[in-house]
Amino acid sequence: MKVVSEIDPGIVTDVICDMCGDSTRGEGGGLQFGTMHASWGEGSSHRGEEYELHLCENCFFVQKSTMQRTRWIGVMFKDGGDEILKNQAYGLIGQHSASCDKK
Ligand SMILES: [Zn+2]
Repeated sequence: MKVVSEIDPGIVTDVICDMCGDSTRGEGGGLQFGTMHASWGEGSSHRGEEYELHLCENCFFVQKSTMQRTRWIGVMFKDGGDEILKNQAYGLIGQHSASCDKK
């Protein structure tokens, strides 16, 4: 959940984790969070609804692990099923060095 400035609602002053309720402000002062977003359209039972949930780093990886394990349960007895659990890059679509953050 985004917390906005009372003076300027366009300024986000904090982002609260929707799972644990803690601030997502990291030790360096910046906001560190993951986002889960959905905008349901035609053919969906939730048509017209839009969701945005924010997760702190810890809760993000708890959810990622839960998703990975849930998927694994469906294929655990199939050949290669355990590969889902072993995949350290599950969901990872990019990676950059921390030095890129300081530019
Ligand atoms: Zn959290």
